Amino acid sequence: MLQLRKLSKCYAAAGGEPVAAVDEVTLEIARGELVALYGPSGSGKTTLLKLIAGLLEPDSGSVVLDGRDIWSLSESERAHYRLHELGYLDQAFDLLEGASAAQNAAFKLWLTGNVRRAEEIVEPLLARLGLGERLRSRPAELSMGERQRVMLARALSLAPKLVLADEPTGNLDTARSREVLALLGETSRERGAAVLLVTHDPQAAAFADRVHALQDGRLCDYTAGEVFPVRTGRRERA
Ligand code: ADP
Ligand code: MG
Repeated sequence: MLQLRKLSKCYAAAGGEPVAAVDEVTLEIARGELVALYGPSGSGKTTLLKLIAGLLEPDSGSVVLDGRDIWSLSESERAHYRLHELGYLDQAFDLLEGASAAQNAAFKLWLTGNVRRAEEIVEPLLARLGLGERLRSRPAELSMGERQRVMLARALSLAPKLVLADEPTGNLDTARSREVLALLGETSRERGAAVLLVTHDPQAAAFADRVHALQDGRLCDYTAGEVFPVRTGRRERA
């Protein structure tokens, strides 16, 4: 379903060598599969997800979903992909401050004219994520972990075929983390979505069908229980 082929992205650094944030990543994820990428801070996790999400253009390589390279699509086709086929949980929890948790979670339903089904879809998702009592709460009344779960409900609301989750348990305690990971697991196994989650939490990696490590932008084998060494500096591309 999703195929990444030699995907690369370098950032130009002011006055210095460019940083190879994502370096020739090749990876396939099938329908119904949950894949974790485990990597330390700065290893290129967020950059990789932005390339797949169609938000940041790769320097080279391709992102192929169901046979279409999303970077060969027109801008409006890519926007359609992002809205209808992708569920992207990013690290910025940009909630509408004037709207309730339930309205925020229903944002994509509202954008796609499904507003009449909003309650029916979003409320069980929020309840499943432990927010059943917070449906009418405003973002200002929610913790970071609660805001993140509202964003996850939004990401899953249109039953995406591909789910990308950027450190989905980053702000959560152990019990809440398990709920989020279990929901992502169901999203792949029961709904058949391809799920890619990036994390530096070994517990999150343990929920996946398959785990790879990402280090300095490169995909490597992962050994269970592995703890990354403290970074001393980034490898730079000449
Ligand atoms: P992670 O999500 O694993 O922490 P990122 O993808 O955010 O990693 O960053 C990978 C590398 O690219 C880091 O060295 C980071 O400093 C650098 N980087 C990220 N975003 C930018 C940017 N917009 N401009 C320049 N360098 C960036
Ligand atoms: Mg990141």
